[in-house]
Amino acid sequence: MEKTADVSSDENRSSPAGGRGHEGEPHRQGELGSRLNWLRAGVLGANDGVVSTAGLVVGVAGAAATSAELLTAGLAGLLAGSMSMATGEYVSVSTQRDSELAALDQERRELAHTPEAELEELTGLYMAKGLTRDLAREVAVQLTEHDALAAHAETELGIDPEELTNPWHAAGASFVAFTVGALLPLLAIVLPPASVRVAVTVAAVIGALVVTGWVSARLGSARVGPAVGRNVLGGAIAMAITYAAGVLLHAAR
Ligand SMILES: [Zn+2]
Repeated sequence: MEKTADVSSDENRSSPAGGRGHEGEPHRQGELGSRLNWLRAGVLGANDGVVSTAGLVVGVAGAAATSAELLTAGLAGLLAGSMSMATGEYVSVSTQRDSELAALDQERRELAHTPEAELEELTGLYMAKGLTRDLAREVAVQLTEHDALAAHAETELGIDPEELTNPWHAAGASFVAFTVGALLPLLAIVLPPASVRVAVTVAAVIGALVVTGWVSARLGSARVGPAVGRNVLGGAIAMAITYAAGVLLHAAR
């Protein structure tokens, strides 16, 4: 099944709304696509929180730490991770927004100074989409009368000037998503008795990674099995490595 009628979900896969290193362009799709992108970014953020905090606390537990030490390490990891995610998201979305605002300014200037050339440009863009010259011209004229900037922003730049992503919203969403994910391994390592805390944490983390892998695969219309498998394997390897490092460090002391 290479081709799918659901074009918007195909686009979602390639441009989630944020997360470090992702192209945050949720406004390029419709409102549903935008919401799915945010949801997907949230699941990925939570997944980050689960894996990084699980690796951290399991490693510290491997070095035979007390509950108080585990709580300190886990909380520090939670805060450091969530702020790092929020900062990265803020920077990336701000940069994106700056370049979009600059492009809109440029478009505004062009519309003010060379309206006829802009109308011709818009006509050409609709012809490129498949309209005849006369119809393209008619569409361009009517949309220019309605809202010239919006028409150019949408057709030429692929952005909606009313819906630029707010960097603070993106940062806040990342912070919350990571924190929610990080709380799970933190509580799982701190609450149970010392003899079973690592086993409880590993079980809780694997359960959570099954859920986040399943949800993100569904949101991206990808196959569920491989997505869940990769997600669980990644988390399990992270915990195995940090636990081994903790045990070795403890033995060396
Ligand atoms: Zn233009």
